[in-house]
Amino acid sequence: MKAMVLKQYHQPMEWLEVETPSIGEEEVLIQVKACGLCYTDLKIQRGEIPPPIVTLPHTPGHEVAGIVVDVGKRVQGIRKGDAGVLYIYVPCKRCEPCLIGRENLCPDLKRIGFELPGGYAQYVKAPAYAFCPFDKGFSFEEMSILTDAVATSYHAVVALAGVRPGQTVLIVGAGGLGIHGVQIAKLCGAKVIVADKKEKALRLAEQHGADHVVSAGKSPLETVREITHGMGVDAVLEFVGSKETIAWSLPSLRKGGKLIIVGYVPGQPFPLDTMAMHYNEWEIKGSRLCTKVELLHVIRLVEEGKIRPVVSRTFPMQEANEALLELSNEGTAGRIVLTNREPLTE
Ligand SMILES: [Zn+2]
Ligand SMILES: [Zn+2]
Repeated sequence: MKAMVLKQYHQPMEWLEVETPSIGEEEVLIQVKACGLCYTDLKIQRGEIPPPIVTLPHTPGHEVAGIVVDVGKRVQGIRKGDAGVLYIYVPCKRCEPCLIGRENLCPDLKRIGFELPGGYAQYVKAPAYAFCPFDKGFSFEEMSILTDAVATSYHAVVALAGVRPGQTVLIVGAGGLGIHGVQIAKLCGAKVIVADKKEKALRLAEQHGADHVVSAGKSPLETVREITHGMGVDAVLEFVGSKETIAWSLPSLRKGGKLIIVGYVPGQPFPLDTMAMHYNEWEIKGSRLCTKVELLHVIRLVEEGKIRPVVSRTFPMQEANEALLELSNEGTAGRIVLTNREPLTE
């Protein structure tokens, strides 16, 4: 099969002939139809996620949708021809976080597209556990981005922020993840304010239900206070996670509000006003991907038409470098997705 291979950091990946993965008894082989492009893939290419997580040569890609083409002997309930996506994390299923349903915090995690080869390829193998089917007829391009862009936002908004009807939420950054955060917060019954530097992202956020959009070119703190009649918001969903945005997003909270950090900038801590933390009892939580059951919920919500996956552009798999360049130059309103459209050859 062919796969995009990163041989050296800061260099383009190469579309190379590599061995098609052979599967174990409890694994499945997926013919990749589509694979979403994540900002983390840029971090991987730039060497910001070094060994032991990512070792070279490496094939990235953690938003995989495709068709089952081979099934291990001991796999039950999955058949050749099934369409589905892959839960990115391969947890141990024995440790305490795994046993309480927080397998995204398993200390023995391996991840598709990080420690394991990813979906910028014609085929990828995965434990049967990772395979989450969806109804035939849904687009692979749209379904691929559920595994991270949509389900990560769902975990942050529903499980960690606990957004409820009547609350007000500030979404910082309406890119590939944030645009789904907008939809999910609306689904939870909240009023949604979106801050982003890019006009294009703000217009897209409006199309997907944002009640107010504010430019993040300069601090939107005053505008957020005006919208909330001086109270502040119940929750901030930080999809950027830079010290520049947290400088105004944290003080946008009302007393007792929650800041959920989803996006991150490696090696750039932010200063914290401990006195303000004390007087306001603000909570700050990190948010990491999602649990498998949350991914299953998200698949159902998309099948029911309650969330619309936002794909801004597609590229052929071989043009992953061009796609990454577009992501780094333009940022993106919605997700970029790579596709294997032409007939696949072994
Ligand atoms: Zn990602
Ligand atoms: Zn575990």
